[in-house]
Amino acid sequence: MVYHWTLASVLRASRTGEKDKRLMLFSRELGKVTAVARGTAVPEAKWSSSFEPFSLLHLRLYDRSRYFSVVGSEERVVYVDIAAHLDKSLKGMILNQLTECVLQPASPEPGMFAAYVTALARINEAKSAAEQDTAFLQYTLDVLRELGFGLTSLRCDRCGTILAEQPSFSLTENAFHCQRCRDEADVTLSHQLGTFLRTGTGSLDRRQAHAGIALTLRVLRTASRRLGIGTTFEQFAENAATLFREEHTGQMKESHDEL
Ligand SMILES: [Zn+2]
Repeated sequence: MVYHWTLASVLRASRTGEKDKRLMLFSRELGKVTAVARGTAVPEAKWSSSFEPFSLLHLRLYDRSRYFSVVGSEERVVYVDIAAHLDKSLKGMILNQLTECVLQPASPEPGMFAAYVTALARINEAKSAAEQDTAFLQYTLDVLRELGFGLTSLRCDRCGTILAEQPSFSLTENAFHCQRCRDEADVTLSHQLGTFLRTGTGSLDRRQAHAGIALTLRVLRTASRRLGIGTTFEQFAENAATLFREEHTGQMKESHDEL
């Protein structure tokens, strides 16, 4: 008999059978695992409200070899603002969707877990849509780093120069270029966005955050194909593009504006 104590967040909850919930968990110690919480899908259940996304739980799990059973639970953090506001819930859901699609089953990812919990807290506390979107952008950068595709030192894809000021992004190659190697159709990144992509510092307005997300989604797409998770990634990317689109980012292809 194997029991685990773990800190975990619910990525997805669904009903299974008459009274049970099937949980897709992101556990700090176990990675992405499925657990069944017996008797929690009925309204009067002791833990029913905890077993939903946007809470951090201390769980005792019993290992049944093919899945886990929840045998004990204690709430640590409930991200009440995400659960209560539709705009934040939508961003929380897309955060969970990205997390679920990039995690390999039962493979612990402590760095990703820390980034995920930070992103939830930031979206929960965000005072504006720009702050919510910037938190999501930061998480996409963290995911890229954890997957081994980090953008911490932006290099020109053609000549290898480290990009400092005003990098260009090619929408046909999904790659960064220096001023010397840039194509005519490349878009130039603003100082703020370039700095944020490299270092994660500075504040962005909503337009810059959306442009940043459009870029990281493109880089993530390339990464997802290499990792063999392209199909589930595409479903996420479609939802993310809808959620973080404004007219100007949709028209990025035609406009050569600075982003
Ligand atoms: Zn170059």
